[in-house]
Amino acid sequence: MAHLSINKLLIANRGEIACRIIRTAQRMGIECVAVYSDADKDSQHVKLADEAWHIGGPAAKDSYLKADTILEVAKKSNANAIHPGYGFLSENAEFARQCEANQVIFVGPPVPAIEAMGSKSDAKSIMENAGVPLVQGYHGNDQSDDRLQSEADKIGYPLLIKATAGGGGKGMRVVESSADFIDALNSCKREAISSFGDDRVLVEKYLTKPRHVEIQVFADSQGDAVHLFERDCSIQRRHQKVIEEAPAPGLSEETREQMGQVAITAAKAIGYEGAGTVEFLYDHDGSFYFMEMNTRLQVEHPVTEMITGLDLVEWQIMVANGLPLPLQQNQLTINGHAFEARIYAEDPDNDFLPATGKISYMGLPQTNANVRVDSGIVSGDSVSVYYDPMIAKLIVWDRDRSAALARLRGALADFHVAGLTTNIEFLHHLASNDSFNNADLDTHFLDKHGEELT
Ligand code: ADP
Repeated sequence: MAHLSINKLLIANRGEIACRIIRTAQRMGIECVAVYSDADKDSQHVKLADEAWHIGGPAAKDSYLKADTILEVAKKSNANAIHPGYGFLSENAEFARQCEANQVIFVGPPVPAIEAMGSKSDAKSIMENAGVPLVQGYHGNDQSDDRLQSEADKIGYPLLIKATAGGGGKGMRVVESSADFIDALNSCKREAISSFGDDRVLVEKYLTKPRHVEIQVFADSQGDAVHLFERDCSIQRRHQKVIEEAPAPGLSEETREQMGQVAITAAKAIGYEGAGTVEFLYDHDGSFYFMEMNTRLQVEHPVTEMITGLDLVEWQIMVANGLPLPLQQNQLTINGHAFEARIYAEDPDNDFLPATGKISYMGLPQTNANVRVDSGIVSGDSVSVYYDPMIAKLIVWDRDRSAALARLRGALADFHVAGLTTNIEFLHHLASNDSFNNADLDTHFLDKHGEELT
C-alpha cells in the first residue's frame, strides 16, 4: 500500500463508525487521528486511534459539528485526509469545500455532488432530467399555499409533504384529503424551519405499501461506476431503519439489474465519486422510484460487505487516493444473505424512549465469519443524552435468508446488556415473527405488527 497518498487520516466522528473506520485504515498502514468531546474522553474510538485530540463540549454543535476546529486539528496533527463517517459533517458541502481549500483530502464525493443531493427537490429535478423514475409529484420553486394545494389536488390523496432540506425521517406529513392539506403544510413547515432552518417543501404521491430498497454505488475519479447490489430497509419505525438486509428478498434479477443501472446513471449524472446510496421506493408490482441519494457511507453498509466480501471503507480510501475501482461490474456477485439489527438503548415498552446511563455489562455473541458486531461501547461505558443511543450493530451472514435469520435469532439470544433498557428482546421477537420470516415486507411492517413484538 506504499502508493497510497493518504498517510494520516482524521476521523471526524465517534462511536461504532469511528472505530470501524480506524480498523480498516490501520490495516492499510494509515495512522489514525481521533477527535473527541468532553463526553467521549474515555471512548473506544479514542483508545483505538494512534492519537486523539479534544475538540470541545459534549453537545455535537460544540464538538463534532465544529468544522473549523476539526480542520485545525487535521493541520496540527499533519493528517492529510478526513473521513466524516455518517451524520455530523458527512453531508456538509461547506465542510468538504473547506477541506479542499486546506489541501486535506475529504473522503467523500466532490463538493458539487454533495450540494446537488443536499436538497430533495433539486435532487429530483436532476434525476428527472437524467431519466431516473420519480414518484409523481411537484418539486418546484413556487411555494405559495395556492400552488402547493393545487399541485396536491392534481396528484391526489393520500400524499406526502416533505421538507426539501429534510432528513432522518423528520419534516414529513402524510395528508389524507384535500381538506387537511393546509394544516399539514403549516405543521410540516414549522418542523422544517426549526429542524433545518428552511421551510421549502415538495409534495408527492404517497405509496401505501412500498418497500425501501436502496442501491450501493461506487464511483472513481476516472468516471467509472459500479453498483454493489441492494439493501432492503423496509423495517422502519417513524421512518428510521431498524433491521436491514441484503439482498432484497423476492427481487427479480431483471429488476435488480435495472435498479443497479438506474443508480449508476444517477451517480454519473452528478459526477459522483466514492461510496453513495441511491434510495428507491419499490412497489410490489416491481416498479421503483428514486427517493434520494445519500452522499456518504451508510449505517447499514456492513450487509453489503457481507454479501460481496468487500471492505467499503477500504474502497473509499482507495478512490479518495485517485485509484480506479478495484473491481468491475462483472466481477461483483452476491453471495448468501445478510441482516443487520440496530441495537439501541431504548425502551420498547415506553414508546421506544431513549435510555441513558452506564452499561454495567455487555456480553457479545461469538463473532466469526457469520457474526459481526460493530460497536463503540464496552462494559462500563455510558450511553449519554448527547448522541444517538445506538449501542451496536449486529450483522449476520449465511447461505440463504432463512439460515441467516436463524443466525440472527441465535446471536440476539447471546447478546446481553445490563444496566439499561435495550431493544434486544424486541429485535428477537421481530426475527421470530412469521410475517418477517415470510419476507412479507413493506415500510408499515412495524405499524402493523408492533403489538405482537413488544
Ligand atoms: P429522510 O431523508 O428523512 O430519510 P426519505 O425521503 O429518505 O426521508 O424517506 C424516508 C422514508 O419515508 C422512506 O424510507 C419511506 O419509508 C417513507 N417515504 C418517503 N417517501 C414516500 C412516499 N412517496 N410514499 C410512501 N412512503 C414514503
